[in-house]
Amino acid sequence: MRKPIIAGNWKCHLTLQEASALIAGLKDSCDTDAVEVVVCPPFTALATAAQSLKGSRIRLGAQDVFWEPHGAFTGEISPTMLVDVGCRYVVVGHSERRTHFGESDQSVQRKLLAALKYALVPIVCIGETLAERDANLTFNVLTRQLEGALGTLSTDEVRRLILAYEPVWAIGTGRNASPGQAQEAHAFIRKWLATRWGLEAGDAVRIQYGGSVNAANAAGLLQQPDVDGALVGGASLSAEAFAAIVRAAVEAPSKAITR
Ligand code: PEP
Repeated sequence: MRKPIIAGNWKCHLTLQEASALIAGLKDSCDTDAVEVVVCPPFTALATAAQSLKGSRIRLGAQDVFWEPHGAFTGEISPTMLVDVGCRYVVVGHSERRTHFGESDQSVQRKLLAALKYALVPIVCIGETLAERDANLTFNVLTRQLEGALGTLSTDEVRRLILAYEPVWAIGTGRNASPGQAQEAHAFIRKWLATRWGLEAGDAVRIQYGGSVNAANAAGLLQQPDVDGALVGGASLSAEAFAAIVRAAVEAPSKAITR
């Protein structure tokens, strides 16, 4: 079975006090064995979040990572620092970082490799813009991003990562991909993985959908056979909305590995 994973990307939001209050709400409503639940606060709130999460099954992730373990890289945060503060996951290649901070497929690959090296689970984001979708380039873009980020990985490394299909036109816009659009892209990604690393690896990798997931649309998306969870931005800032998404994942049919 592929265990569903719901991750909250808090982006550039929340003071320490607000972060603690949100985690208190999540501990009351999202502490489950049935789904892997992850929160990704901003760097400033990671230590506080780690403390607040003690005694719960909710796990901690970061929103970005640098590829070197230490050195003269002012402003960067290393994988060893993330492990030290209690992170087990890290988002890599989010479209906001690609768009606003010039991240390339190459830098995404370096970050992903560093995360794996230091035993962090990378959540690797890929997805097309609206112009690319309208020009029928979705699969070309996904192939380029997958090849660029994952191309050199071993089978064992591929099995340890999580992919997040996040169409750029759906992030923070309130316009989510339909369940059918999400399933189509996820099935394409899984097939690409299987062609590259074999059917077993293709079946094992979890693929989250991200882009305006909320309490109302989560169930339809999570019921799709290749949608193994969600990466949630805006709705992850409300314990109530996030808990409803986690519940939708608990209630979704299990994602059997078919072979
Ligand atoms: C995200 O930040 O990855 C995201 C999907 O944001 P939102 O849910 O707000 O669209």
